[in-house]
Amino acid sequence: MDGSTPHKPARPTARGRLFFANPGPTNIPDSVLLATARASMDFNDPNFLAVYDACVAGLKKVLKTEQHIFFYTASGHGAWEASLVNTLSPGDLVLIPETGYFSDSWAKMCGTLGFEVQMVAADWRRGCDIAAIEAALAADTQHRIKAVCAVHNETAAGTRLPIEQIRAAMDRVNHPALLMADTISSLGSYDFRMDEWGVDVCVGGSQKGLMLPTGFSFNGASEKALAAHRASTHPRHYFDWTEMLGRRHKSFVGTVPITLFYGLQESLRLMLEEEGLENVFARHARLAAGVRAAVQHWSGNNGPQLFCQNPERWSDSVTAILMPEGHNADDLRRVALERFNVSLGGGLGKLGGRVFRIGHLGDLNEPMVIGALGAVEMAMEIAGVPHAKGGVQVALEVYAKSA
Ligand SMILES: *Cc1c(COP(=O)(O)O)cnc(C)c1O
Repeated sequence: MDGSTPHKPARPTARGRLFFANPGPTNIPDSVLLATARASMDFNDPNFLAVYDACVAGLKKVLKTEQHIFFYTASGHGAWEASLVNTLSPGDLVLIPETGYFSDSWAKMCGTLGFEVQMVAADWRRGCDIAAIEAALAADTQHRIKAVCAVHNETAAGTRLPIEQIRAAMDRVNHPALLMADTISSLGSYDFRMDEWGVDVCVGGSQKGLMLPTGFSFNGASEKALAAHRASTHPRHYFDWTEMLGRRHKSFVGTVPITLFYGLQESLRLMLEEEGLENVFARHARLAAGVRAAVQHWSGNNGPQLFCQNPERWSDSVTAILMPEGHNADDLRRVALERFNVSLGGGLGKLGGRVFRIGHLGDLNEPMVIGALGAVEMAMEIAGVPHAKGGVQVALEVYAKSA
């Protein structure tokens, strides 16, 4: 406009739709996008309050809880922080099963906030052993551990951690710690049962399985968590549950992101009414099986392989893929993006360059996943990454059989 160099896109403009195969944020359904296109309104307007109350009730169905939900205008990190500062006191000991980058990040946050952390060490490729978690709890005869913070779906490694088995381990040794579960990349993709599994605090966010833009996160909180909150002496303000309980929304300190709730109302309608939660889970399981079958085929010729080596812990929402030695995952991702307009997730932390990830959660169907797999197979060919050809064909067969 001012006569200077016109804007140049950072990558060649590919035509057609961006195939978005990241594990978060995720694809937003058109009807959800349209629902969020609302003019501003007072967040105490009765029309909005009706939408808000319906959203809270719907989200409780997804969490499978009848307990309270606290919302924050923050990404998942905010709800992580809120879970800790609301229920613990400075110096409290927290037990964290190691799953990967996200368990380590939550642990790092605990340390920064002044809590003591005990990790249950694990091989990221196999997932944390429940017996090791139980042994750590059994050894804590003084009950110094105040919370177990477990990542239900480790988005960096493509692994799941069975929260219900952690609850059973805690019950076997009669440990009174709070059980906290990060459900950010599992909620709405595969089963999570807050009340049945005795989860005291769960952590969720808008931009993964709930198919919304980034912008709010939340904690489900049990009666036991609320009692721990009343005893907690940790400083907090923006995330303070007591402050929130005194407000009309019983959540939020500050402005409520109203447009996101119009979007949530629609995404809950899609999940709970149009498709049905069980069908949502079945679709995610199907999509995941096809992706894994393709990767297992590619691995045949010393090609990329599944990062998770333990089938019991395979995630239905994201698959992490380990590159063959000497080949960089980010080079492959660049070819997929620049040449084919397909966006893949990168490796996080120590997996940077070694792993890429295919997100298969949210608003996706088989052809979209096949598109992403096809781009990966073409990109491997272009980038000279060894692999057994025909992984996409294998996925086609999996999908045709499970349709
Ligand atoms: C994405 C993610 C987070 C972080 O959430 P943000 O919204 O990026 O702050 C935490 N835990 C898990 C398991 C995640 O997948």
